[in-house]
Amino acid sequence: MKKVYSHTKRSTLDRCTLQYFYEYYAAGYEPPIPTLQQSLFSDAPPLEHQRIGPDDVVAAAACKLLASSYQVAGQILHSVIAQHWQHPDWTSEWFRRTAIERFDRAVANSLSSEDESVQRLLEHHYRLSDMDVTISAARARLLTAISNYFEHPDITRLVGEMFGSEQHGAEEAIGGLPRIGDFTISGRIDAWSRNGDQIRIVDWKMGGTVGDEDSLQLVLYGWWGSRRFSVAPECVNVQRVYLGDGKIETPLSMSERLIDRCRARLYQDVERMESLHIYGEQGQFEAFPACQKEKICHQCRFQGMCVALTAVR
Ligand code: SF4
Repeated sequence: MKKVYSHTKRSTLDRCTLQYFYEYYAAGYEPPIPTLQQSLFSDAPPLEHQRIGPDDVVAAAACKLLASSYQVAGQILHSVIAQHWQHPDWTSEWFRRTAIERFDRAVANSLSSEDESVQRLLEHHYRLSDMDVTISAARARLLTAISNYFEHPDITRLVGEMFGSEQHGAEEAIGGLPRIGDFTISGRIDAWSRNGDQIRIVDWKMGGTVGDEDSLQLVLYGWWGSRRFSVAPECVNVQRVYLGDGKIETPLSMSERLIDRCRARLYQDVERMESLHIYGEQGQFEAFPACQKEKICHQCRFQGMCVALTAVR
C-alpha cells in the first residue's frame, strides 16, 4: 500500500484511530495465503492482534461509498467555486442554482437509487433519527457559503484581486514537495494567485470561524507555494476564508522557520502513521483504538460495522 500523507488522513487519525484503519486499510486488506515457507521465513512481526475477516473487507468497501450530507455539501461548494474560477463571467445565480440542484439531486438519488455505485448519504443508510434536520442544515450551510462567496464585500474584493493578478488558479494538486520519511505528501490547493514574486493562497472553509485553528495545513500550502513558484517563503501568504460567516483570516506570512517547524511536525505525524502501517497492512484492527465519542461516531460512515460499537450494542 502506498504511503501517503495528507491533511485529511491526519485529521482522520486524530479523530479516531479505528476509523483511520477502516478508511485506509480495511477495504484493501488481502488475507495472507498460509504456507509452510511463509510461516518459517516471513519477516513480518508476530501476530499480536486479531485480523479482520473477509466480510469486514466487503463491508468496509461498501461503507466507503457513503458520505455525510455535510461532506456532500462541502464537495459541491468546492467544485462550484472551482468552476467559477474557470468561468468568472457566468452569473452568480447560475452557480447558486447549480449548487443547490446538485445537492438536492444527491439527496434524491441517495433515497431512491438502487444502483450500488451511486453515493448514498450515511444519514439515509443508517436511518439516523435526526437525518432530516442534519440534511436541511447542510443544505442551508451550502447556500450561506455560496451567498457569502458571491455577495460578502470582503470576499468579493479578495476574489476580484486574485482574478486581477498576473496569474491565478484553483484546485491544484500539491506536488513537488520532498517526501517525509517514506511518505509522499498529497493534497489540493483551493485557490492561488501570483503578482510578480508575491504569492497568495486561499483555503475555503464552508463553516464559520472557530478560532485557534491549527496552522500546520496552511504552512504546508505555503511551503508548496514557495517551491511551486520558486520564490522565497517570505513572498508567500496563506489564509483561510470562512464562507459560513464571511470572515477572512489575517494572512499567514511564510518563513523558513515556519516551514522547518512544519516539517518537524510532519515527521512526528508520519512516525505515528508508520508505526501503525504494518498492523494496518496485516488487518490487525485491534491495534487501532476506537474513539467511541458519540458525536464523532454519529457522523462516521463505518458505524454499521464498527467493532467498538457492535460490542456495546
Ligand atoms: S463508529 Fe466511532 S469508534 Fe467506530 S470507527 Fe467510527 S468514529 Fe471510530
